[in-house]
Amino acid sequence: MSETEPQRERRRALASAAAREAREQTEVALDQPLPCIVTTIEQSFDLAVVIAPLGDGLAGMYTKLPNLNVALIAGKDAAVRRRFTLAHELGHHYLGHGPRWDDTASLKDESDPDESAANRFAAEFIAPQPAVERFVGELDDSAPTLELVCRLANHFAISPQAARIRLETAEVITDRRLLGRLDSEIIDGQAKPCFERLKLEDRDDLCRLPSALLPRLPAEARGSALADFLDGRISAAELAAAIGSSIDQIEVALGRSVV
Ligand SMILES: [Zn+2]
Repeated sequence: MSETEPQRERRRALASAAAREAREQTEVALDQPLPCIVTTIEQSFDLAVVIAPLGDGLAGMYTKLPNLNVALIAGKDAAVRRRFTLAHELGHHYLGHGPRWDDTASLKDESDPDESAANRFAAEFIAPQPAVERFVGELDDSAPTLELVCRLANHFAISPQAARIRLETAEVITDRRLLGRLDSEIIDGQAKPCFERLKLEDRDDLCRLPSALLPRLPAEARGSALADFLDGRISAAELAAAIGSSIDQIEVALGRSVV
């Protein structure tokens, strides 16, 4: 039986509340942006962050190795996408959803209760309501324009699309017509020149690692089956056996030949 709208809203509210509770476990105040989401997550949660080349369609995965929980993030994605995917995988971990494979479509699948909850969790973890309200409240000009979207995106180091959605879910902008116009401006490619005009640059954190420095493996992930696979020391079949997955899934996820 599919959910009713009030049930959906309640589940989203619970996911947001869980994200605020998770943020309170970190050292970063609830009304501040995260200086480096990778560092914060590894310091505060039982989750190792691996950024590595993955198969074309895959954005990230949450998996459990023996004695190690891992969020694996696609190195092909831009830093703003990597941050949101990482917060989404933390959502699966924190909300107890169990291992997940996220491709671009599942990350947007609001009809799947777990995916929708992980997205709400991610938005609230990266940009908690008090931080959004504080940031908007301290701006000289908080008119609901593309400039506000870009400033918010830059403050929380997220994409213009994610910032526009956050302005809606945080109820900073409620006018549907205005939200539609902002969507059109983003689709039309107007965010990039806006960032340039405002001299807004992305923050230099671990999600900005260039592909030449990937895979990024934290110390606790070294020696694991995943690290051995990424270094070519074990086969996809051996990795699949180690994480209780199928070889097909490994091949799709990591884009390698199993032979
Ligand atoms: Zn997911």
